Amino acid sequence: MKNYKKIIIANWKMQLDVNQSSKVAKATRKLLSNNKASRDIQVVICPSFLAMTEVAKVLKGSKIALGAQDSFYEERGAYTGEISVGELKKIGCQYVIVGHSERRQMGEIDEIVNKKVRAILSQGLVPIICVGETFDERREGNKDMVVMHQVYQALHNIEFDKKQKIIIAYEPVWVIGSGQVIDSQEAAHIASVIKQSMIDVFDGKDPAAYSIIYGGSVTPNTVADFTKLANMQGTLVGGASLEAKVFVEIIKNA
Ligand code: PEP
Repeated sequence: MKNYKKIIIANWKMQLDVNQSSKVAKATRKLLSNNKASRDIQVVICPSFLAMTEVAKVLKGSKIALGAQDSFYEERGAYTGEISVGELKKIGCQYVIVGHSERRQMGEIDEIVNKKVRAILSQGLVPIICVGETFDERREGNKDMVVMHQVYQALHNIEFDKKQKIIIAYEPVWVIGSGQVIDSQEAAHIASVIKQSMIDVFDGKDPAAYSIIYGGSVTPNTVADFTKLANMQGTLVGGASLEAKVFVEIIKNA
């Protein structure tokens, strides 16, 4: 996996069917070809599971990487409805989102996030670990504590080697899909909190390579507020990644 300066990740959630996913992937690939501005940016597209093989065909031979929106932590067995990391890897998936707030709301507790991170790393894929506070946690002044706790729980008791990569996506739950964004000073502060949590969980040792990114209602107009920060390396984009033109504007402005 190439080293990049920035990373922009599209999370299509359950918004596009297989045909639509294929079309948006094709359009994104076309708009990005010969785009010099995106040369140092790793672009990742995370379609629904069902659309992944079609999108993998579209992205083949391009610099756009394929990601998954989730995975299970066991490799094989009687786990109805689950998808293993090994199977994702076979179709060319390189990144996996884990602990997204929408999944945490459906019962994905920290212990499961930790098991999934372990499974993803063991297959050589990159976990995109989502952390972030709810509006109530923020109002009660617990934002930093919540984020530190989630980072620690996701990564503790995992042995890392320096070749592995981790992405931590800070996504305030109350901002996702709301049209609001936090200001860049706040994002810079939380990136420092995350960095300190990483140092704590790794006992002060050099951890695997990691990037910290921001997610939550990012648009072409706001992306640079986050990517210009010294301690943030990119964004996770939901709604604004569903239209190729808008998503490519985000990449160009990053
Ligand atoms: C997300 O759900 O990860 C996300 C960032 O969504 P949106 O950009 O729509 O807020």
